[in-house]
Amino acid sequence: MTLTGACEYTAAARTAAPARPAQSPRATGSPTASPHAPATPRRFDEAGFEGDLRTATAITDRFWRRHWTRFFTGAYRSPRVVGLYDGSDPAATPTCGGEPLERDNAEYCPAGDFLAWDAHLMRSGYANGDAWVYLVVAHEWGHAVQNRLQRRLVSAAAELQADCLAGAVLYGSAADGDLTFETGDTREIVDSFQVIGDRTPWTRPGDHGTASQRLQAFSRGGARGVPACFT
Ligand SMILES: [Zn+2]
Repeated sequence: MTLTGACEYTAAARTAAPARPAQSPRATGSPTASPHAPATPRRFDEAGFEGDLRTATAITDRFWRRHWTRFFTGAYRSPRVVGLYDGSDPAATPTCGGEPLERDNAEYCPAGDFLAWDAHLMRSGYANGDAWVYLVVAHEWGHAVQNRLQRRLVSAAAELQADCLAGAVLYGSAADGDLTFETGDTREIVDSFQVIGDRTPWTRPGDHGTASQRLQAFSRGGARGVPACFT
């Protein structure tokens, strides 16, 4: 089972979807954006994008730090967050085990225990709704969690398990009061899985599963929490 380079968000980066009003999971207490943005192409919200990335990273780390001992033995260690990289520039692309990270992908690198995401991928997805960055960050963090567990706990369907963990983190953070789901977020998540799901169902390690399998895994984690990702 490979964790690095297995996520393959490339389809999302290629998809040029129309801009839609931003309605994202939002950290409680952060400024509220206009709930009804005009239905015309809008300028890319750079500050919002960077803020959402910071928030997604912070709440995901906080969730695992807060709840780790409820589910697992040992102490939680945060992975390093390298964050955005420019995958179009080889000189600016981080390496993992000697290999450059993939263009238009988001990855957890077990060799370096770090997380990184291609800026073009993240911005392309964000243009369709900011739930995207929360989903990608929480999913990749799920791979860092898998790498901290005994191998027997890591599902052969590692990508679906990472989706399940992402659901557990985002809904769990909402239950903790760290995150508020707003109108449109659920739709954005469904749309995101439509874009990044495989065309064929999961049959072997490395497969991601279809959009509906991925959404189902995410929803299972969201509804029943972390333990549901280990059954
Ligand atoms: Zn993945």
